[in-house]
Amino acid sequence: MASTIMATYSPLSVTFERGEGAYLWDANNKHYLDAISGIAVCSLGHARPEVAQAIADQAGKLVHTSNLYQIDLQQKLADKLCELSGLDEVFFSNSGTEANEAAIKLARLYASKKNISNPEIVVMESSFHGRTLAALSATGNTKIQQGFEPLVSGFIRVPYNDFDAIEALVKTNPNIVAVLVEPVQGEGGVNIPADDYLTKISQLCDQQDWLFMLDEIQTGMCRTGKWFAFQHQHIKPDVMTLAKALGNGVPIGACMASGRAKGVFTAGTHGSTFGGNPLACRAALAVIDVMQTMQLDKVASSLGTYLVDEFTKQLSIEGITSIRGKGLMIGIELEKDCAELVGLALQQGVLINVTANKVVRLLPPLILTTEQADELINTVSSLIKQFIST
Ligand SMILES: *Cc1c(COP(=O)(O)O)cnc(C)c1O
Repeated sequence: MASTIMATYSPLSVTFERGEGAYLWDANNKHYLDAISGIAVCSLGHARPEVAQAIADQAGKLVHTSNLYQIDLQQKLADKLCELSGLDEVFFSNSGTEANEAAIKLARLYASKKNISNPEIVVMESSFHGRTLAALSATGNTKIQQGFEPLVSGFIRVPYNDFDAIEALVKTNPNIVAVLVEPVQGEGGVNIPADDYLTKISQLCDQQDWLFMLDEIQTGMCRTGKWFAFQHQHIKPDVMTLAKALGNGVPIGACMASGRAKGVFTAGTHGSTFGGNPLACRAALAVIDVMQTMQLDKVASSLGTYLVDEFTKQLSIEGITSIRGKGLMIGIELEKDCAELVGLALQQGVLINVTANKVVRLLPPLILTTEQADELINTVSSLIKQFIST
C-alpha cells in the first residue's frame, strides 16, 4: 500500500514504543541500546523523569502564548544560555536549520549595516547546516542541494580544516562578512579539525571585522565534553547556533549573538510563531538543570576518552582507517562502505548510525553507564570485525 507519508525518509522497519535512559523497547518488547540518541538529541536518555515532569507540569499550565507577549520562561532560558556560553543574546527557533537561517539572516543584516550589498559567507566542504533553502545552500553536500537550484547565493566554499584557504580569500573577496563552521563536523563524518583551527578563524574574523559563526547544533550542550565545543579553546564566537540536545526531544533551537553581532536584529527583523514558547523553554531549562547537576560536560569528556581508548584496543586491525572522537561524538572509519552495519547492529539490539558512507557514528546519551559503554564497545567491535572479514 502506498504510504501517506511523503517519501523523504527510508526508516528501518522497527517502531519503538517506550524508552528509559539509554534503552528503547520495540512493539515485541525487545530492547535496544541507543547509541545515537535520536541523532544527538536525547542526551539525557529517554523518559528522563525531571524533563518529563517539567513538560507535563507546563502542559497543564500553559503551552503557548506567542511572542506578542513577554514569556518569562524564555527570558530565564536566555539568561541561562548566556551565562553558560558567555554570549550576550538569544533568538529562539524550533529547529537547527531555523537557527542557522537566523544566523545567515543576521550576517546579511550585519552586511547591510556596513553597506555591503553583495555579502558573502565562507562555508566548508562536507558541512551540514540543515534543509531549508539558505541552510542547504550553506551545506557542503551536493546530494542535499540537487534539484533545489537556484540555490541561495552568497556562499563561498573552502575545504574543512584548511585555515590557509580562508585566509587566501581576504585578498580576492572583499565582500566577505562571516565564516560559518562546525567545531566538529557531524553528518560530514565526525571530522575533528586541528586544535588551532577555530582559534585562527576567530582571530582572522576579528582582524577583518567578519562574524565568526559556529554551528554548535550537534556539538553543543555538553556533547563534546564542554558545554559548547568552542570552550575547548580560549575563543568566543560572535554567533552560535544550538538545537538538537537543547530540549532533549522537545523541538527548540537557538541563535545566539555577542560582540559585533549583538543588537543586529531589531524589532520586526525576524520572528517565529512557536519560537521560545513556554513548553519548549521549560523543557530546555529542565535539561540544563540536569546537565549542570550531573556535570555531564565532564562525564562526556571522560566517557568519550574511555570509549575511544577501548575501541582502539579492540579495533587496531586492518580495514579500520581511524578511530576518533571528541567527548561522546565518536567516529570509527572503515576502508569500505559500511551502511549495512546499521541493520546488523539493529538485529543485535544496538542502534548506531553510519555517515559519510564509511564512518560508524556513535552519539550515545551522556547518561550512559560504564556497563552500557562496555556493552556498546563489545557489540560494535565484534560486528565491525565480522563485517571487515567478510
Ligand atoms: C542536525 C543539524 C542541523 C539541522 O538541524 P535540524 O533540527 O534538523 O533542522 C544543522 N547543523 C548541524 C551541525 C546539525 O547537526
